[in-house]
Amino acid sequence: MHKAVTFINRRAKFSLTRSQRLLMSIFCSLSVGLTHAQPMGAPSLGPASADELSPAVERKLGEAIMVEARRDPDFVSDPAINQYLNDMAHHLVAFAPHGGPELDVFGVRDPVVNAFAMPGGFIGVNTGLIVSTKSEAELAGVLAHETAHVVQRHMARGLTQQKQSNAIMLASMAAAILAALAHAGGNAAAGVALFGQAAALDQQLGFSREAEQEADRIGFDMLSQAGYDPTGMVRMFAGMTNAATLNESVRGGVFASTHPLSMQRMTDMQNRARLMKPVPNQSSANYWYVRAKARVIQSRDVKTALLVTEQFQEEARVSDGSNRSAALFGLSLLAFQNKNYPAAEQYLKSAQVNVPASPFLSAQAIDIDLAQGNTNHALVTAQAAIKKWPEQVAILQRLVKVYEVSHKDHELVELLNQYIQRWPDQVPSLYQSLGNAQERMGLRIESRENIATYYRLTGALVAAMNQLQEARKMSNDFYEQSQLDARVQKIREQMTQERRMLERFKAG
Ligand SMILES: [Zn+2]
Repeated sequence: MHKAVTFINRRAKFSLTRSQRLLMSIFCSLSVGLTHAQPMGAPSLGPASADELSPAVERKLGEAIMVEARRDPDFVSDPAINQYLNDMAHHLVAFAPHGGPELDVFGVRDPVVNAFAMPGGFIGVNTGLIVSTKSEAELAGVLAHETAHVVQRHMARGLTQQKQSNAIMLASMAAAILAALAHAGGNAAAGVALFGQAAALDQQLGFSREAEQEADRIGFDMLSQAGYDPTGMVRMFAGMTNAATLNESVRGGVFASTHPLSMQRMTDMQNRARLMKPVPNQSSANYWYVRAKARVIQSRDVKTALLVTEQFQEEARVSDGSNRSAALFGLSLLAFQNKNYPAAEQYLKSAQVNVPASPFLSAQAIDIDLAQGNTNHALVTAQAAIKKWPEQVAILQRLVKVYEVSHKDHELVELLNQYIQRWPDQVPSLYQSLGNAQERMGLRIESRENIATYYRLTGALVAAMNQLQEARKMSNDFYEQSQLDARVQKIREQMTQERRMLERFKAG
C-alpha cells in the first residue's frame, strides 16, 4: 500500500498551510478580554470561562477543517506514522493535570520544522520536524508542548499574541460551514476552502507569552511523567532557537518563529530539567523507522532524493542497531519509490540483520512482494505479522490489500468485521474497505451503509446521508427501509444540531 511520492501541486501545498494560518488567526481572535487581564508571567491562566468557544463548536470547526485537510496531497495518510504520533500523544496526555482531551495527531508532508494545534484537538506534525529531531525525547518534547496547548484549551480561550478581536472572521467561517451544510450533495469542506481563499491572510501568529510558558510547564511535566528524557525538550527548543538566530531556516523553521523562546522560558526549562532524576535518553526502534520514513516522504524531487540517499548511506555506515537498520530501511523505501524492487529487497534484507522484528520492516516486505506479484508470499508475511502485531493499523492495512488483490473477499469481510468490533470508531477506513468489498460481492445496500459510516466518522455528514438515501432507494425490505430511515433521521438531527450550534455562535 506504499503510496509513491507524487508531484505536488505547489498551490495545493500552500492551501493547507494557508488554512492553518488562517485558523490560527481566527482562533487567536477569540479573545474575550477576561483571560488577557491575567498578570504577565502568571503561572496559571485559570479555568476557561463559559463565554469562550465551547468544546462542541471547537470540535466541529476542527472536523470541518480536517475534511479538507485529509484531501490535501500533503496530508500524510501513512498509518504507521500517524499511529506512532497518536500513541505518543496519548501516552503524554495520560499525565495531563485534569484528564486528557480528545486528540488526533496527523503528519504533514512539509520539510519546514513545525507542529501546530488546530481547534478540537487536531495536531499536525510536519515531516520536517520529525526529521530534524535527533532523539525520540526531542520529538516527544515538541509534541508535549503542542498537546499542552490543547489540554489547556489555549486556542478556544483566545490566548494568542494578536489580541484584537476579529469576530467577523470567525462568524464567516461558521457561515461558510452552514452554507455548505445547507446544500444537498455539498460538503462542509467546500465552504471552508472557499472561505480560505476569500480571506487572503498572511499573518504571523502565535500564542501569548503566558500561554507559551504554561504549555512549556505542563508539557514538561507530561513529558517527564511519561518517562521521556526531559532534557529532550530543552535540547530541541534550544536547537531550534539557535538555528532561527543563525537563519538556518530548516532546523529553525516556523515553529521557532511562532514560538519565540525567551531567555526566561529557556532558563525555566533548564531549571526544571536539573531538578529531575536523569533519565536515559533512549529512542525506540519505531522512532528511527518513523524518522526514516518521514525523510523519504518529504523528498519530492530527484535532487533531494539523491541527497537523502547519501545521508542514509552515511548513517548506515557510521551507526548501529535500530539507527542503522532505519537508514537501510530508508534506502529500501527510496528504491521502492524508484520501482527498483530487487534493490528495495536487498536493502530490506540488510535492514533486518541484528535487529528485532519490526512491523515497519514487515510492512515493507509485504509491499515489495505485492509490487512484484508475489501475492502468496505477501499473504504468509501479512498473516504472520498481524498475529504478532494485532494493534498495528499499517499491518492490518497490508493484510486488507493482500486479500483484495488475491480476491479473498470473504476472508476480507471477516477480518474487517473483527477489527470493527475491536475499534468501532477509531479507524474510519475499515468501513470504506468493507463497503468496497461488499460492493464487489453484490451487497449494494450493506456497502452503502458502511461507506456512510466512513463518511460520518470523517465528518462528511452530507455525503453520509447521500449514501444512506441511495441504499434506501435500493431496498425492498420494509424492516431494512425503516432502519435506514432511522439512520438518515439521526444524521439529519445531528446536522440540525450542528447548524443551530454554529448559528448561535455566528450570532454571538
Ligand atoms: Zn507553543
